[in-house]
Amino acid sequence: MNLILIGPQGSGKGTQAGRLAKRFGLCHLSSGDILRSVEGELKEEVNEFMKRGELVPNELVFKVLKKSMESSKCKKGFILDGFPRNKAQAEELKKIVNIDKCIEIVISDVEAMKRISGRRTCAKCGAVYNVDSLRPKVEGVCDLCGGRLVIRDDDNESALKRRLQLYHRETEKILPMFNFVKIDGEQDASEVFRNILKVLE
Ligand code: ADP
Repeated sequence: MNLILIGPQGSGKGTQAGRLAKRFGLCHLSSGDILRSVEGELKEEVNEFMKRGELVPNELVFKVLKKSMESSKCKKGFILDGFPRNKAQAEELKKIVNIDKCIEIVISDVEAMKRISGRRTCAKCGAVYNVDSLRPKVEGVCDLCGGRLVIRDDDNESALKRRLQLYHRETEKILPMFNFVKIDGEQDASEVFRNILKVLE
């Protein structure tokens, strides 16, 4: 089974993708995480786009993602989280794999702003917290690995506005290219997960 999860910033794609991966034995491919872990000469270039909230050029994203999709961990299928984000990426993807379902987790821009402005991320393992709704046991320290909690470079107001703008302008438009459903993301994460499972049954 190959799935796409899309949704605005802060919609909880990463959380849901993690749960789905565990449930179905699929691999979770987050384009954002993969791009953040790029090393070597491309690192600087990739960071420049990311911190401004711009999309990283298609060829570069596709190259790193394709490599991950071919990993043996993805034999049973994968969940794409954050990819594709525009028409060209969707077309490229459709050329090489079959997508069973595309799920959009919907939240309003107001909710996205609220969630992202309170988001704290572990600098070591990437786990996500929130100053209002999901606080760590010890302030500033990751419950899972003891890493330091930081504000991501692109979790500032101007980069977030740009990311949301690109979401509405480019990403939403690819939905009709796939077999897609919309799920309300402004509910409890467990409820969102239950609704996704219903759709996949
Ligand atoms: P969010 O969904 O909250 O924007 P991500 O971690 O998924 O967070 O993505 C962060 C950034 O990584 C994006 O703003 C963009 O710069 C880059 N990125 C991630 N996925 C893609 C993609 N499919 N195409 C181009 N750039 C991407």
